[in-house]
Amino acid sequence: MLEGGCACGEVRYRLTSDPLFTHCCHCLNCQRQTGSAFVVNALIEADRVELLAGEPKPVDVPRSGGKKQRIFRCPTCEIAVYSRYTRATILFVRGGTLDDPSSVAPDVHIYTRSKLDWVTLPDWVPAFTTYYDTQKLWPAASLERLGAITASKCSAG
Ligand SMILES: [Zn+2]
Ligand SMILES: [Zn+2]
Repeated sequence: MLEGGCACGEVRYRLTSDPLFTHCCHCLNCQRQTGSAFVVNALIEADRVELLAGEPKPVDVPRSGGKKQRIFRCPTCEIAVYSRYTRATILFVRGGTLDDPSSVAPDVHIYTRSKLDWVTLPDWVPAFTTYYDTQKLWPAASLERLGAITASKCSAG
């Protein structure tokens, strides 16, 4: 199982299964948030992120189009360990906070319209100028897991 955490060690987490899908996002929001060229986000059900230590602090960060993204940070060193968008049931775990960042690799590159010129993408990973169709790209097992979340959310509501 994959584990990770912040820089000071206060926040530690464990992924209790493989991620659903891993994004490498080259959008301007992600570039600004990370201060870098792109972000690696491992998408996983929120209940499969087990906190081993610490309590990440939610910070709502403005995005383009008047939307907000909730980023969870270590309260002490303020490293961002994961975030979420509109869907509260899926967390976007920052790949670089894993103890072994090489344990996840992008399944897709998105928002390549703002990809920096000096970043060269491998030709065997799908890449999209903006977003993509989940139904077409995710493996069957991940779509099944996604369906399970949506179903439980509906029955709860
Ligand atoms: Zn910390
Ligand atoms: Zn992005």
